[in-house]
Amino acid sequence: MNSPVTREHWQLLADRLSLRTQAFIDGRYVDAADGATFDCISPIDGRLLARVAAGSAVDIDRAVAAARRAFEQGRWANAKPAQRKQALLRLAQLVERHGDELALLESLDMGKPVGDARAVDVAATVRCLSWTAEAVDKVYGEVAPTGLDELGLITREPLGVVGAIVPWNFPLLMASWKLAPALAMGNSVVLKPSEKSPLSVLRLAELVLEAGIPEGVFNVVPGTGQGAGAPLALHMDVDGLVFTGSTAVGRQLLQYAGQSNMKRAYMECGGKSPNLVFADAPDLERAAQAAASGIFYNQGEVCTAASRLLVERSIKDEFVARVVEAGRAMQPRHPFEPGAAMGAIVDEVQTRRVLDYIAQASQEGGKLLLGGKRAEIVPGGCYIEPTVFDEVVPAHSIAREEIFGPVLAVIAFDSEEEAVRLANDTDYGLAAGVWTRDIGRAHRVARKLRAGSVWVNYWDGGDMTAPFGGYKQSGNGRDKSLHAFDKYTEMKATWINLG
Ligand code: NAD
Repeated sequence: MNSPVTREHWQLLADRLSLRTQAFIDGRYVDAADGATFDCISPIDGRLLARVAAGSAVDIDRAVAAARRAFEQGRWANAKPAQRKQALLRLAQLVERHGDELALLESLDMGKPVGDARAVDVAATVRCLSWTAEAVDKVYGEVAPTGLDELGLITREPLGVVGAIVPWNFPLLMASWKLAPALAMGNSVVLKPSEKSPLSVLRLAELVLEAGIPEGVFNVVPGTGQGAGAPLALHMDVDGLVFTGSTAVGRQLLQYAGQSNMKRAYMECGGKSPNLVFADAPDLERAAQAAASGIFYNQGEVCTAASRLLVERSIKDEFVARVVEAGRAMQPRHPFEPGAAMGAIVDEVQTRRVLDYIAQASQEGGKLLLGGKRAEIVPGGCYIEPTVFDEVVPAHSIAREEIFGPVLAVIAFDSEEEAVRLANDTDYGLAAGVWTRDIGRAHRVARKLRAGSVWVNYWDGGDMTAPFGGYKQSGNGRDKSLHAFDKYTEMKATWINLG
């Protein structure tokens, strides 16, 4: 069946949606133990979508106990890798089959264009699940180099119960980057989605069951960071904690892990990614389009947003003029409009935060070239114009802090050395881009950039085959690729005396 193509079609589908609003524990939807709920508001128009169960420590205890029971019982943990593969492949198919519904939930809940949610978020979730599934029965252990009198086996074992805490910007995809490798390796999972976007993974939970993954192996407890996230991170019976979100919260979670049972803790955090454009870039128009979509895609709510544009001074004015034109064409629209380049900002709090950064950038001496205002697209909605500031210097807050909105800071440089210094002058190290036709320079600069992903002559390259994660305060550990399995397994050395 083809996805809807018009705004009216998506609206019809949205009107017929039935939302899952309870926690999912031990294979069943249940209210929070104390009956508490929180309001789930759509940033598209400020409408109340649902009242969702607000989990607390009691609900986390129940979910962790269910996850532990399922793990000990072993139907999933001890299943042959080929069986786990089949179940995860079925899950990938179910996500694809329900792709329109899941895309709509993403769009309603956090405001992104539904076309992007369908073509990017859902498609990437399906790829993540199926790629990981296909890998499960191809991961081998090792045999240590020994003499004839002993045998050393190096094997991986699942951690046990994994707590996963995820953000709102790509709710389904960030959850799948965690749950796919965690489940593939035989763990049980308790997932806490963001309170700003719980709906898609609550729906996913029953698809996990339908795919044949036993009750209790995958649980979802919605709620706030303090209410549900902290008890999960502090839990004494959680073996691994995986997180995607802000650096401030990631830092806090590392402390929780230390304060409790020293659970394995892997944080994927924020970014302030530099995009370096040299005067010899192969195609300035393509580079300008990429610079604009690198910061305005998903309303700028992307951990790898190309939020710092570093341009060689000799081409700066011409290049920035092209970026401004490309940005102007990406005005926010109703997220159900076909081809909408930007939708709504996730909520009123984030909208005000971004507008505050814009005001501060002007006060600090940035020169506003585009946007800078709230856009009135739908009454009650949260929309901000694509915004570009020129004449930013490294000390300005928009050059240093992650805004997580559609705001670009332009900084000029005069030499390769200065470009690299400016690029690395940040607490973060998630991603970086380099545009040049000089192959020597491309490699030199790529090597010197302190970032987990470097893209040469494009932005946001990569797929499931390569690890993704950050240097410095952008985090530790890696999602995606075979390296992701490291986070979800203990490594055991078994020595056998053959003498
Ligand atoms: P956030 O840190 O505010 O929240 C993330 C999650 O942590 C949410 O589920 C939240 O409820 C929970 N949380 C908050 N306080 C908590 C606490 N004290 N204890 C336990 N849990 C707590 O981040 P956000 O606003 O949801 O997402 C945006 C951030 O995510 C940005 O910084 C972005 O760069 C980052 N991000 C990083 C990646 C990556 O792969 N590195 C990917 C996407 C987003």
